Amino acid sequence: MNSHQYDAIVVGSGISGGWAAKELCEKGLKTLVLERGRQVEHLKDYPTMTANAWDMPHRNRIPLADELENPVVNRCYAYAEDTQHFFVKDSEHPYVQNKPFDWIRGYQVGGKSLIWARQTQRWSKYDFEGPGRDGFAVDWPIRYEDIAPWYSYVERFVGISGNYDGLETLPDGEFLPAWEMNCVEKEVQKRILEAYGDRKFVIGRCAHLTQPKDVHLAQGRGQCQARNQCYRGCPFGGYFSSNSSTLPAAAKTGNLTIRPDSVVHSVIWDEAKGKATGVRVIDRVTKEATEYFAKVIFLNAACLNTNLILLNSTSSRFPNGLGNDSGILGKYIAFHNYRGTLGGRFEGFEDKYYYGRRPTAVMLPNFRNVKKQEMDFLRGYMSFYSAGRGGWGGSRDVPFGAEFKAANSEPGPWWVSMMMQGETIPKETNLVSLSPDLKDPWGIPQLQIDIAYDDNDEKIVKDFLEQGEEMLSKAGVTNIYKNDSKQAPGLDIHEMGGVRMGRDPKTSLLNGFNQMHLAPNVFVTDGAAMTSTGTQNPSITYMALTARAVDYAVRELKKGNMK
Ligand SMILES: Cc1cc2nc3c(=O)[nH]c(=O)nc-3n(C[C@H](O)[C@H](O)[C@H](O)COP(=O)(O)OP(=O)(O)OC[C@H]3O[C@@H](n4cnc5c(N)ncnc54)[C@H](O)[C@@H]3O)c2cc1C
Repeated sequence: MNSHQYDAIVVGSGISGGWAAKELCEKGLKTLVLERGRQVEHLKDYPTMTANAWDMPHRNRIPLADELENPVVNRCYAYAEDTQHFFVKDSEHPYVQNKPFDWIRGYQVGGKSLIWARQTQRWSKYDFEGPGRDGFAVDWPIRYEDIAPWYSYVERFVGISGNYDGLETLPDGEFLPAWEMNCVEKEVQKRILEAYGDRKFVIGRCAHLTQPKDVHLAQGRGQCQARNQCYRGCPFGGYFSSNSSTLPAAAKTGNLTIRPDSVVHSVIWDEAKGKATGVRVIDRVTKEATEYFAKVIFLNAACLNTNLILLNSTSSRFPNGLGNDSGILGKYIAFHNYRGTLGGRFEGFEDKYYYGRRPTAVMLPNFRNVKKQEMDFLRGYMSFYSAGRGGWGGSRDVPFGAEFKAANSEPGPWWVSMMMQGETIPKETNLVSLSPDLKDPWGIPQLQIDIAYDDNDEKIVKDFLEQGEEMLSKAGVTNIYKNDSKQAPGLDIHEMGGVRMGRDPKTSLLNGFNQMHLAPNVFVTDGAAMTSTGTQNPSITYMALTARAVDYAVRELKKGNMK
């Protein structure tokens, strides 16, 4: 048992677990990171990072047999032959879809930090005030001022590129130089601002080193080369991942032990001591069961798996899951609504082109119901657009010869495309639970998912498509198409909630420091902790909440408040 005793345990090594590990180790705690997936070492384990399409057996396409066997993961845009080794195959990790839900997962050291799209916007004060003001979910126990210094803290280490735009609804952060809009994007931005006065699209903020500082070079990371092959793992460490950034920093302290292939089954509740003492683990390969112990436990298995672990952590004291006297564990799960897309042709600028690639788009913070309730739906959506020139190979009808060559030496017309990221409202009926009879290959109950859109989401999609069309028309875009993909929840990969933060143990599981009300040495700092979803990409908020929670947990430990 002694050899299995640590100061802290972190479950999961993805974006939030990497941050928990770094902070705990740097504060001097002997920390064990338990990761269900295999080891992935930065650079060494990125087998396709410099491959060309012709180096791959299927020229970077997924064969039909794989598509048929794994329909869920195949719906993820980032899943291809060059990235498939970082994604979970449906066939190997079953779950129960009581309602259609595309659960996209990355089980390996680094989790989804290797395959995320790296967009990172801060929440504004309006996002934290939302549920309290509008009367849904529960009031957040924190406000923007509580988290702002922690956003700065993580942004400096991660390296976020962005422009200082001074928008109230999208606070600026600690930015490296921003990516640039192309000429048509600038023109569209200008025309929309002129038409509306207050709809200011700005260049996206993302976790790419446009100009690394010493703090990034010290991590062994270098400048982003805009290869746009990020999902393979970056040979330059140009974007933020746990593997390139937080885990090496944790290891540098000498306080980190990382144990891959360790599937956490549940948190151990010691009835005699009246506290959580550790976790049960099933070895992924040998299926052998083990236990590890620590003074403080951080759950960072990503939203739905953290819910699963807690629901599976039953004891005489907590027959319905750890800390779940209220019965709300697993409920009030929400996500982001990505269903609406539109776009069209942009006339003019035919003598202009742009150079290179860029890992972000142009974005407009939510403009609906910001300061008061105005619409017949709750909350709103963020909008993104980008512009580019179409196909160099667009002249297939021209006969071979000089004419063909000339035709294919001209880029096609300009297009603009737009997409939404809508807030969804956490509801008791959007929930996960444990299957009473089905188990996964490690003997753990399978997760049952009951999550769906509602009328509010339908209204948001409709409003986005109408507003998007109006904005693009005013910007001079023609031949506008609009599409509601009706994609299932889950494909946004921004699932949040189930173990929400709040003030009252009767209506929330965690307090304002992500600490379980009823198991004070257990912290949840991944998406499961989120009380509402906002309209921003969520991971930078998980990072900030994690660093803040570790700071608090270690102070409490030192005060002897977590015995
Ligand atoms: C294609 C794609 C694009 C995305 N784009 C963005 C974006 O632009 N911006 C943004 O903010 N977010 C984006 N996301 C979402 C982002 O990846 C997640 O929000 C983020 O990774 C969540 O961090 P996490 O630590 O909670 O989970 P993860 O990074 O998923 O890490 C969880 C870890 O826990 C491990 N684990 C799970 N269960 C157990 C268990 N029982 N025992 C032990 N270990 C376990 C997993 O193997 C994994 O390594 C994107 C995701 C994908 C896939």
